[in-house]
Amino acid sequence: MHICYLCRPESEIMAEILQKVIEEERQGEAYAPFKGDPVDYSKKFYIESYGCQMNFSDSEIVASILHGEGYGATRNYEEANLILINTCSIREKAEQTVRARLQSFRKIKKRNPGMLVGVLGCMAERLKAKFLEEEKLVDIVVGPDAYRSLPTLVMEAETGQKSVNVLLSRDETYADIAPVRLDSNGVSAFVSIMRGCNNMCTFCVVPFTRGRERSRDAVSIVNECKDLFDRGFKEVTLLGQNVDSYYYSAEGSSLEQTVNFAQLLEMVALVSPKLRIRFSTSHPKDITDDVLYIMAKYPNICEYIHLPVQSGNTRVLQMMNRTYTREWYLSKVKRIREIMPDCGLSTDVISGFCTETEEEHKDTLSLMEQCCFDMAYMFSYSERPGTLAARRYTDDVPEDVKSRRLEEIITLQKSCSRKSYSGDVGRTWEVLIEGDSKRSSEQWCGRNSQNKMVVFPKGNYQLDKGCYAMVKINDSTGGTLIGEIVEAIG
Ligand code: SAM
Ligand code: SF4
Repeated sequence: MHICYLCRPESEIMAEILQKVIEEERQGEAYAPFKGDPVDYSKKFYIESYGCQMNFSDSEIVASILHGEGYGATRNYEEANLILINTCSIREKAEQTVRARLQSFRKIKKRNPGMLVGVLGCMAERLKAKFLEEEKLVDIVVGPDAYRSLPTLVMEAETGQKSVNVLLSRDETYADIAPVRLDSNGVSAFVSIMRGCNNMCTFCVVPFTRGRERSRDAVSIVNECKDLFDRGFKEVTLLGQNVDSYYYSAEGSSLEQTVNFAQLLEMVALVSPKLRIRFSTSHPKDITDDVLYIMAKYPNICEYIHLPVQSGNTRVLQMMNRTYTREWYLSKVKRIREIMPDCGLSTDVISGFCTETEEEHKDTLSLMEQCCFDMAYMFSYSERPGTLAARRYTDDVPEDVKSRRLEEIITLQKSCSRKSYSGDVGRTWEVLIEGDSKRSSEQWCGRNSQNKMVVFPKGNYQLDKGCYAMVKINDSTGGTLIGEIVEAIG
């Protein structure tokens, strides 16, 4: 999960800057016009996305729907007929950021009253028509399962009516919509494999904003991955709130069997050995040995698992309804490392959940120390209206205590990251080149299988982005490996 820079305490931001979490930099990203598209569109839309990778992936579906209606994309909202903002509700600060951003559209709307403003995603779903009352500027409110109705809603709004569709669906997966890859690096792409979540973690708003869990047709997923590979993409990230509970039943599809996540991984791995596969997010209760063995079997399935722990204390985990204990989590990590000794591991942690004591916080620190994660997304607890925690518990850990605990978590994680990255010095990894490094066009940057960013000089090799290279690591920071090419693979 990736929350906006603007809405986070500085301490959180610093930790993630240190770890060079590139997804953070996508927050509030506006898409560029369709690459290589010569059409001079008479209608243009501008879309900005906040929150998790799922939202960014959804924006590509929305772009595809609008493109089908004759809209072109623009990066300049001043020239747009339709401004869309794809929102996140995960924490209060995320919502405040969106509201502040809406204010900046006010001036342009005054100048151009025909321009429409639409709010998409989780905040739209949470606030529904109330959004229209609270933010007079907004014309259209669309929940995550209602994007197909966007063209109709726009037409309604063009007549001066405010329009809303926040119906959640039990079966919408947008399986038949080919997302438009706007502003992509042309190397890696997100592929949504399921929607919604049935888990009901007590702190989390997602089950309310994204509805029941449903899995997308496996054949359509594989076809999308094949198409991406044919168009030159070299890496896909399979997305879902809980990918390990992916389960597609073939009824009414061209498949003759059910497909679980391990099977889906294998189907995608077989698209091409040159196509890397990643996935996110795994719930510790659902990740199976079958998944781990399939990961170990196929070199093109990256050895990296994002396994959110949330807390290192069993009582707190129970209050969070995570349905595993500290010991269960530790045994999963042990199992992962037995089957894949080099597997990269990252996590999510929440500080100061309701009733968390100092001792329980220390359990989180000791678990983090034991696991030595490569990277972590660290949050202080933010009560969300309507969640089970908001209804059942008191948000009773004072803000200053939450922040201090978060600081301690971040400080520890920084040292774990440094340890993990420095442990790679002297090793040689296969790296998929994503493009020039930020510092210099003389250097490439790309990731190893473990999802660590590697920077290295281009040298005299004839490589390009999308190529693989074997890179020997000579140095490291807490978030980057620095190396040199020892073999160009191409
Ligand atoms: N589905 C994933 C899982 O099971 O862990 C995570 C998805 S959630 C949208 C992303 C992360 O946001 C969570 O893992 C949690 O750490 C954090 N988060 C969710 N609700 C939160 C809240 N109310 N306060 C603080 N952090 C929260
Ligand atoms: Fe939220 Fe839990 Fe579902 Fe993740 S698994 S989206 S934290 S309810």
